[in-house]
Amino acid sequence: MNNKNKRKAIHIKTFIIPFIIIAIIFLIVGKILIDSIKNHYYNQLEEQSINFARSYSHSLAKGTEAYEIVDKLLEDKLSVASKIVAFYDYHHSNEQLKKLADTLEVDEIYSYNPQGEIVFSNTDKYLGWKAYEGHPVYDFIFSNKKSLVEDIRQDTESGVYYKYGYFKAPDGCIIQIGVLADKIQNFLGGFEIQQLLDEMEDDEIIGQISFIDNYFNILASTDNGLVGRKITNQDVRSAIDEDREHSFLNYFYGKKVYEVFIPVYFQNSKIGTLAIRQSLEKTEAIVRQVSTIGFVTLSTIFASLLYAMASTYNKNKKLIKLAYYDSLTGLPNKEYLIEFLTEKIEKNNGDKKALLLINCSNFRTVNLTFGFQYGDTILQELAEKLKELANIYIILFRFTSDKFVLYVDNYDEKNDLIRLANKINEIFNNPFKSTDVNQFIGAQVGIVEIDNNYNSIDQLLKDASVALTYIKDNSSANYAFFNEEIENIVKREEMIEKEIRTALSEKNTKKLYLEYQPQVDLKTNQIVGFEALARMKTKNLGLISPVEFIDIVERKQLMIPFGNWVLKTACNFIGVLNNKGYDVIKVAVNISGIQLMRDDFIDTVMDIIKETGIKESNLKLEITESIILEGFTIVNSRLKQLRDLGIEIALDDFGTGYSSLSRIRGLNIDCVKIDKYFISKIPVKDHSELITKEIISMCHKIGLTVIAEGVEVKEQRRYLVENHCDIMQGYLFSKPLSKEKTLQILKNNYKDRKNNNYL
Ligand code: C2E
Ligand code: MG
Ligand code: MG
Repeated sequence: MNNKNKRKAIHIKTFIIPFIIIAIIFLIVGKILIDSIKNHYYNQLEEQSINFARSYSHSLAKGTEAYEIVDKLLEDKLSVASKIVAFYDYHHSNEQLKKLADTLEVDEIYSYNPQGEIVFSNTDKYLGWKAYEGHPVYDFIFSNKKSLVEDIRQDTESGVYYKYGYFKAPDGCIIQIGVLADKIQNFLGGFEIQQLLDEMEDDEIIGQISFIDNYFNILASTDNGLVGRKITNQDVRSAIDEDREHSFLNYFYGKKVYEVFIPVYFQNSKIGTLAIRQSLEKTEAIVRQVSTIGFVTLSTIFASLLYAMASTYNKNKKLIKLAYYDSLTGLPNKEYLIEFLTEKIEKNNGDKKALLLINCSNFRTVNLTFGFQYGDTILQELAEKLKELANIYIILFRFTSDKFVLYVDNYDEKNDLIRLANKINEIFNNPFKSTDVNQFIGAQVGIVEIDNNYNSIDQLLKDASVALTYIKDNSSANYAFFNEEIENIVKREEMIEKEIRTALSEKNTKKLYLEYQPQVDLKTNQIVGFEALARMKTKNLGLISPVEFIDIVERKQLMIPFGNWVLKTACNFIGVLNNKGYDVIKVAVNISGIQLMRDDFIDTVMDIIKETGIKESNLKLEITESIILEGFTIVNSRLKQLRDLGIEIALDDFGTGYSSLSRIRGLNIDCVKIDKYFISKIPVKDHSELITKEIISMCHKIGLTVIAEGVEVKEQRRYLVENHCDIMQGYLFSKPLSKEKTLQILKNNYKDRKNNNYL
């Protein structure tokens, strides 16, 4: 996951999208599952219905065939019986016919005379009855037919149903044999369609069955109400017409049914269509049941997935909160800011963007004085106050412990940012009240307008910090824009830094060198020593003031290699002086607090002395008053160690710092250098107002030598001599000199000494 996504992972959106996708997948899977369950059961029903219909249509065809056969047999029986009767005896009697009826197992036997009158019968009831015109018996008698078997019909006299067979005997009499329809029905009924259907209905699996003739009439049905009705549904009609198997999902009295139509053939011709109508109630109940089980299973899986996602989301949220939010203030942190800015810079939308870096100046002191808990309370109150400045265009971040950032988007003009900086300052101008005391915190705001030139977040944040430094140096306002001027300063600093780094890595560098300013005894005018002053000169930048480059050396963590280089170079020069016989001359080297505070400082000094083979007594170290602030005890013990080695210590720039005369009393030093500020006042101020005289006498009282710095004019020298100052250093005698000129001036001074020129 890239950074952008990592931070975004906190957003619910990242989880909602997979959630929606999973939900859709589940819906689709659910739908497919239910559909396939439905299809499976419907297909099963269809297959079952078709199979049943096929086997029933087969039964129907076979039944019809059986019926035809039996009917034919019956007809044959009637025909044979009538012939037997006719040929049995020409002299019929009623008694004979009764016996024959029993033997032949028929119900009625009538013997007609050629006129159509019943002359004998096994029953007495119709003897003498004569067939009249239009009666079927009459029609047969007077037809050309020899024999006939009628379909079942109602007897015209009794109204009972019979099946009759007729035969004309050679003597002209006519025999009629009748079998009661009831008996035939009992016998044939087993093969009738309706009965077959009724039997089929007993089969539990099947629903309603109907038999439809080729003219769409329902001839038989297990639903009596349907018998005699005509099929009107056009789809069904065309299905029947097409002579194919058809199945439909249909509605019957508002209920879903499944209908199967199968043609029934007898002797290669279609005799009708078997229709099976299955209710879907049972199938649907099964589908519902199985679908419910499927749905519950899917829902359980879905719910488990959701649960897993939700816990991952919460876990992620917690992790991301830990990584991207500050636990004390709840504000997005530095990591968040860096990724946020990267995104903003990448997606440059053309809006004006700026960054305000808020630095609490005395927060460290507050923390150290009142404790961290107190500091945390203040920070929380501060965060709450700053949050009030935030809106959709202004986003607040906690950058580091005592630094906050306001990112401003879409502002109109620089003045908007100034107004915002002023609002920030207002917050800091009021005391913080969450603690018992009304605590004041100082603040500065470094502002960077993010233009298209920025493609590195590091650079952006660095520029904001640089702007802050600029305020500290020029503390008139408590906000500063990172502008061209600062940019130039920074660029120059970077160039100087680079030059120093290369110079320190070169063996015999020309970029860095030392100049030596003579220190002269005010009583004898003899050179007693020199101050080694670092110089820097490069092709690109020319001569650079030590005030400028030493500050850079300090800030860019170069003081140790630089200090060592100075010390070594100065000691080498001492070696040169010693070789030339100047063995009482002292060379003073300026030492920074950074050097003195290092645990290995004494060892380093000793190593260099050893390496250069000089005497400790020729070396003098100048420290500034500010070093004492780093820690009096430790500084003092180091100074003692140095002095014990025979190295002289001078307190530089005395009077500009915080140390009082009473404080230096206990300090392990040998001499005090009165700062040139005091010396410069000598010609202008009334001498009585000057404290220089007092400083000199006080220093003498505690056994310290006094050196006056920056002595430029004779009047100053005179004053110093009058007030018993020991040594002077300044342009009046000599400016700092190159190595060669130093040796020259020393030579001249020694010559004059012999000639007593100075006295
Ligand atoms: P500092 O140690 O107080 O050095 C004396 C400064 O006064 C030198 O300035 C010197 O050139 C200047 N000066 C001497 N006589 C006169 C005078 O009559 N009139 C005026 N106006 N100025 C005079 P420079 O060389 O520019 O050094 C400035 C500061 O840089 C030094 O002040 C010292 O604090 C620092 N510095 C120079 N070299 C080194 C070094 O090697 N190491 C460290 N740590 N600091 C150094
Ligand atoms: Mg000095
Ligand atoms: Mg000085």
